Amino acid sequence: MEIAITKAASLKSKPEADRLGFGTLFTDHMFNMDYDPENGWHHPRIEPYDAIPMDPSTMVLHYGQGVFEGLKAYRTAEGNIQLFRPQENFKRLNNSCRLLCIPEFDETFMLAALKRLLEIEKDWVPNAPETSLYIRPTIIAMDPFLGVRASHTYRYFIILSPVGAYYPEGFNPIKILVTREHVRAVRGGVGEAKTLGNYAASLLAGDKAHQAGYTQVLWLDGVELKYVEEVGSMNIFFVIGDELITPALNGSILPGITRDSVLDLGRKWGLKVSERLISIDEVVNAHEAGQLKEIFGSGTAAVISPVGELNYDGRILSVGDGNVGPLSQKLYKAITEIQYGTAEDAMGWVEHI
Ligand SMILES: *Cc1c(COP(=O)(O)O)cnc(C)c1O
Repeated sequence: MEIAITKAASLKSKPEADRLGFGTLFTDHMFNMDYDPENGWHHPRIEPYDAIPMDPSTMVLHYGQGVFEGLKAYRTAEGNIQLFRPQENFKRLNNSCRLLCIPEFDETFMLAALKRLLEIEKDWVPNAPETSLYIRPTIIAMDPFLGVRASHTYRYFIILSPVGAYYPEGFNPIKILVTREHVRAVRGGVGEAKTLGNYAASLLAGDKAHQAGYTQVLWLDGVELKYVEEVGSMNIFFVIGDELITPALNGSILPGITRDSVLDLGRKWGLKVSERLISIDEVVNAHEAGQLKEIFGSGTAAVISPVGELNYDGRILSVGDGNVGPLSQKLYKAITEIQYGTAEDAMGWVEHI
């Protein structure tokens, strides 16, 4: 498919790279493509960033039939631009599509389209340390219809947003509230999809955690409230004794690409790595036995987010010695060095633009 290109008549001024936040500024152009049953996915185009006109009855607004991805473009010291495992994002987006009854797309074409967009917007990839260009591919149901069924028409779009360093004040452990009042997802639901409703459903628990002075919630499984699932919108890891543990993918956990990268590096480094059930009681017992060495979250935004404290039913578990643990530090360094091209890409994770 040929990608039609319409350039913006005037370009926005670029923000200063050392004063970027997250998700407030958007670049000059976006990618758009449509789906209908007669034409399939068609009319791919890059055009000026603009509103998407929609009828008030548009299905995504009512029933949340929509999916998205989040990845980043990084600028290397030489000024080149690169992506980190982008094929995995498009594979996961197609998996989210299947779970939400959205027609799948050609992953190879989508990556090519993203690269084309990034070539046009390359000057928007910031160059200050730890900054990047956040990429948000999204698919939404477009039928103007109030009946409950899968939409017949869809819009796929990609928008780009320059983002600042996640740790402007340095890499410090966060405090987490274990919630037994709310669950993120349940077995048989759509927890493993990056779909709109999962995020709406997490807001109240997040608000309560913030009010109590915590950065995020730790989610337990939705059936027994016993097994650890995720932390906020990150995957979670524990170092107990000499074992690196993350909950096994069970359908309600989002299969993070950073999670997968941590597992690969852990195995490569010869660590004892486990994907298995881990109960909150096991974490409490490990803490009591002095074996709870590290806890960290993993995700594209923060890469690694060290956890310094858990509050479980009013009981405070402090992790390690209160500083960022050595494995958290080592993983953060290893992954970011690959992303920014300062270390050799021995895992074959980098895609050059
Ligand atoms: C996106 C996401 C993650 C992390 O996935 P990455 O691919 O590592 O960015 C984890 N949990 C949830 C709920 C997410 O939405």
